[in-house]
Amino acid sequence: MASDATSTISDAQAAANKFLALNSGNLAAYMEACVHCGQCATACHFYEVTGDPKYTPAYKLFPMARAHQRTKWPWRWFGGPTVTEADLQEWEELLFDSCTMCGRCTQVCPMGIDIASIVAASRQAFAAAGRGPKDLFEAAENVRDKGSPLGVTPTVFDGRVEWLEDDYEVDLPIDKKGADVLLTVSSIELMKYPKSIVAMARLFNQAGVNWTFSSHGYEATNFGFLAGKSDIAKLAIERIVSAAEELGTKTLVIPECGHAYGVLRWSGANILGRPLPFHAMHITEYLAKLKREGKLKFKQHEGSITYHDPCQVSRRGGATADARYLLEDMAADFREMTPTGNFNWCCGGGGGVQAMSRAADLRHKVFQIKMKQVEDTGADMMISACANCRLTMDDSKAYWNWDRGLESLVELLAENLIEDVDHSVDLKPHLA
Ligand code: SF4
Ligand code: SF4
Repeated sequence: MASDATSTISDAQAAANKFLALNSGNLAAYMEACVHCGQCATACHFYEVTGDPKYTPAYKLFPMARAHQRTKWPWRWFGGPTVTEADLQEWEELLFDSCTMCGRCTQVCPMGIDIASIVAASRQAFAAAGRGPKDLFEAAENVRDKGSPLGVTPTVFDGRVEWLEDDYEVDLPIDKKGADVLLTVSSIELMKYPKSIVAMARLFNQAGVNWTFSSHGYEATNFGFLAGKSDIAKLAIERIVSAAEELGTKTLVIPECGHAYGVLRWSGANILGRPLPFHAMHITEYLAKLKREGKLKFKQHEGSITYHDPCQVSRRGGATADARYLLEDMAADFREMTPTGNFNWCCGGGGGVQAMSRAADLRHKVFQIKMKQVEDTGADMMISACANCRLTMDDSKAYWNWDRGLESLVELLAENLIEDVDHSVDLKPHLA
């Protein structure tokens, strides 16, 4: 049983109430717009690898569409279809485990329906009913209670930064008042791929950026949003906003994490309920800006490179060209995947799916698409700009015993940076 403000109600009723509360504006318009053409099916990696019709993206509209029907004549007056316990049972897997919110289906939809936004709203309704993957909910609760999905508390954050500063001999300022840029991190990087944090710092320091971390607004990923827990989503944004306001920074740079960027850049102000006090940029956008200004130069990297577009950075984020601009004079042999750019395939672990242990089998199946794409290029190295994609691929490549993997764009840039100081530290990309 779930609870609302005044009473204890059934899970189905709690979900139905939330669906109705969210059913307005663009979401209600999407419910009216679907013409059931089915074109979205083959755009979705979950349908592509399984051929199972239940993974047709439009099918994910169903629970919200039921709530929407109740708002129309004659159901508005006489009652009508509502979400049932059986619906919650059936759609939980479809709305959590098998949607990475990648937005690929929207690109082929003749009505332009943003299914990812409907999935995000539907997750809120399921969360209100207490329905969803336990590990995803735990990650969200870690954000609330500890400051990050992986339990990186402010004390742990400070300790990791100090360790990186000492071990890599790089300046990592914290809580520097008046800094122009507040740099955030993903706890995936902090705990598993810390060299990418060192790489960002080296690039910023070389370019002369006046930047800082914050000791309490450091975590960029937002598992509250991914889990459908809007109170936690808001809290995570408030921490960053209050840090930026205290420090007086007007530019927020989001690290190699696609969903962190998507949530802050496109949903942050709405979730917060007021305009953001900064301009939010993904690290690839910010580095491209520095390069355009002549503040960063790179030597050529020998060997062939292909680029995996993180869905939230390229397709849904608009930084598709920036990654290629950063690579253009560094990558001696750059090879695009097919398809690429805004129509590239997802890694299979976005939308919090990587954090759901029960989704592992499906996620591994999806990864076969990426393996084939990379092998078809013949490139020696695949790079990208999302630590969550990297974690997903590290996990999936181990499952398939695949002899390739994903490396970090910022690490590769730092490795090939032309700098006027001698860094003796080896910043070769992480090898799993
Ligand atoms: S957003 Fe991506 S994962 Fe979700 S239904 Fe659409 S194509 Fe599939
Ligand atoms: S492509 Fe768009 S209109 Fe067609 S079934 Fe899918 S969501 Fe509905």
